[in-house]
Amino acid sequence: MTEPCVFCAIVAGEAPASTIYRDDAVMAFMDIRPVNAGHVLVTPLKHEMSVLSLDDDTASHMFTVGRRVAAALKDAGVRLEGFNLFLANGTVAGQTVFHAHLHVLPRFTGDGLGFTRNANVRMPPQSELDETAERIRRAGGWE
Ligand code: AMP
Ligand code: ZN
Repeated sequence: MTEPCVFCAIVAGEAPASTIYRDDAVMAFMDIRPVNAGHVLVTPLKHEMSVLSLDDDTASHMFTVGRRVAAALKDAGVRLEGFNLFLANGTVAGQTVFHAHLHVLPRFTGDGLGFTRNANVRMPPQSELDETAERIRRAGGWE
């Protein structure tokens, strides 16, 4: 049997959620463990683990709704000087709920959040960037 999905349960109304928005493709609700106050999740109604498995319209719509939520947060009195739209795809990227979702994270000075770079970050030569770009173009069919 497959693991029950908590976001599918929320979509189905079988698990509680503090809902902000819902349409026929996505819904937005409060994260149960906010990293900052006002932390919202936008998730498709359809269960897909990876954002790559969603159709383009649904994936784009997640971003659109994420923007709208971000725009509403300040008027809602949330402490916010900026925000991150963040999506973790795969365990190695930090995904813990395997139903695709976009985080809307309010940010303010000194909130203690942030990505850290590994210590050996370097600036590769242009030729190396060109070569990688070419491989991605080829893989994407953009040549
Ligand atoms: P991620 O690590 O990107 O997969 O994020 C999963 C997020 O889902 C975490 O921030 C959790 O706090 C949040 N979360 C887990 N269960 C629930 C739930 N029942 N309702 C709302 N948010 C949840
Ligand atoms: Zn699900």
